[in-house]
Amino acid sequence: PGLAERIAGRLGGGTAQNVTVRAVNAVDLTVRRGEVVGIVGESGCGKSTLGRMVSGITVPSDGHLAFDGAPVATERRGHVVKTTTRVQMIHQDPFASLNPRRKVGDTIAEGPRVHGLVARRDVDAYVREILHKVGLGADYADRLPHQFSGGQRQRVAIARALAMRPDLLVLDEPVASLDVSIQAQVLNLFQDLRASLGLTALFVSHDLGVVRHVSDRVAIMYLGRIVELGSVEAIYRQPLHPYTQALFESVPRIGAGRARFRPIQGEIPSPIDPPAGCTFHPRCPHAGPRCRVEVPKLKAAAGAHEAACHLHDGGTGGTA
Ligand code: SF4
Ligand code: MG
Repeated sequence: PGLAERIAGRLGGGTAQNVTVRAVNAVDLTVRRGEVVGIVGESGCGKSTLGRMVSGITVPSDGHLAFDGAPVATERRGHVVKTTTRVQMIHQDPFASLNPRRKVGDTIAEGPRVHGLVARRDVDAYVREILHKVGLGADYADRLPHQFSGGQRQRVAIARALAMRPDLLVLDEPVASLDVSIQAQVLNLFQDLRASLGLTALFVSHDLGVVRHVSDRVAIMYLGRIVELGSVEAIYRQPLHPYTQALFESVPRIGAGRARFRPIQGEIPSPIDPPAGCTFHPRCPHAGPRCRVEVPKLKAAAGAHEAACHLHDGGTGGTA
């Protein structure tokens, strides 16, 4: 914990129709070095926005976001300027993030060259070494992105990020656009790289199975807030927050005889006009009077397992 990197701040999201949508709200998350934290939630919960802010692609509309005490991005004349190379992001669609007219070797080499991470004469060898790490032969350096399969492109995107020797990787749905068999290959590659390089990562996904596979700890997000945070074992063994419980019940279980599928009741409320109190209260089967007025804070409920729910108020057993 002494090595903890602290990501903190009061964060706001983008805008729609001149109304500020609070995509992410007062998220305070500490990622320990060498740890992978999974960020889970339904689409629109703010998990991608959080990833983009941590990566310096988006700046908070108010408040600040710092990595190791320094801002990851600033805004200059209306443009977001990333101010650190220590955080690197891997996107869902690797094709969109690769220049179609550039050899992938040049794409991988660009960052390290510009930032002087590698001596000019060593760049080619460096690129070959990184391609090898992600399971691609050195001859792939001279190919263009369209000559790669989806899984190979994602390997290139991982190579490009790793070439910057980041302290923190942010992966936003990195396997969501891939076939299931290819997903497993890319996830296994990630696990191998973790073991050999000791990566620290935020892994954003809507897929509870994927997150369980790769994470040490898991943060569950709902309407821009973290509503539950704990070790992967604790969260998958005993989810505490009613939203997390509903999320688990909405996933068909393999090997449980008949698949049990129970969608979460109600619609996700609009982030423009979120419900008062606990924002989950219109959908929560346990909602009481307190839930409609008082925002529950994320607090330790059982050891290091935290929940933002009046039922788990400070581990004493609260009332909703
Ligand atoms: Fe449900 Fe109340 Fe807990 Fe919110 S605070 S999740 S409404 S019980
Ligand atoms: Mg997303």
